[in-house]
Amino acid sequence: MSHFWTNYHSHNYYCDGVESPEAQVQAAIQQGVQTFGFSSHCPVPFTNGWSMKRDRLDEYLSEARALKEKYRGSIELYVGLEIDYIPGVCGPADFADQLDYTIGSVHYLGTNWNGEPWEIDGATEGFMKGLVEVHDGDIEGVLRQYYALLRQMVQQDRPDVVGHLDKIKIHNIQGSLYDEESDWYKAEIDQTLDAIAEAGCIVEVNTRGVYKKTLDIYPSEAILKRMRERDIPIMINSDSHTPAEITLAFVDTAHQLRQIGYKMVRVLVQNEWKDIPFDKDGLSLGN
Ligand SMILES: [Zn+2]
Ligand SMILES: [Zn+2]
Repeated sequence: MSHFWTNYHSHNYYCDGVESPEAQVQAAIQQGVQTFGFSSHCPVPFTNGWSMKRDRLDEYLSEARALKEKYRGSIELYVGLEIDYIPGVCGPADFADQLDYTIGSVHYLGTNWNGEPWEIDGATEGFMKGLVEVHDGDIEGVLRQYYALLRQMVQQDRPDVVGHLDKIKIHNIQGSLYDEESDWYKAEIDQTLDAIAEAGCIVEVNTRGVYKKTLDIYPSEAILKRMRERDIPIMINSDSHTPAEITLAFVDTAHQLRQIGYKMVRVLVQNEWKDIPFDKDGLSLGN
């Protein structure tokens, strides 16, 4: 039985990734990836350090579609975007028509001390400044708003895939800001997972926290166990920003997911979402 990997969360030089989409494709093939998705950060109507510029979107889409044809037979390619959900500003529905799939991510929460979108995914310094100056240090209130925004996304502007569900934990170094075992936190998670199950979204298991931050996968194991109870489908993604990162931490993560009780991932193959068995060596079709 031959095994292969898939990765639908990847960045390249159209946003803050390095190297071309084609370099990513060649590296993916070398790493045993059979199905690969491009998911640059969508353009946003303000300036930040990592999104694609609006005037490059058409070129990104046409280059990705051309690669899909060029590599047909060697690797299956899909064209997506990682789309910021910012109510009233942008969300998955703004781009979905042009794409094979959408990843919806929350990187911003309300506004910061300057009245600009508050980045909760960037440097901890900026996160802490917003927490103290805008929210009087009320981390529980911020977490509640964060998960409420995720619920609003899946209910009102449903993506195919929910990106790095608990990414805000990058600032919770050794549990310094909040306790993931506290009742209020678990209640927020449960409510959010119920909304995701109801909407029928896939939740990606994102390995970037493991290889980039030596932290943890997103979402945490405790959340994955409660996802399993609800039968929420998963896929394993690396959120790669370089060709070398495309399958990093996949073996250990797949093993961990099997321990939790997951036996299938839901992936886009032959233009359809399918549940495919996996183990620590990868996905496998048939027996
Ligand atoms: Zn992201
Ligand atoms: Zn990403």
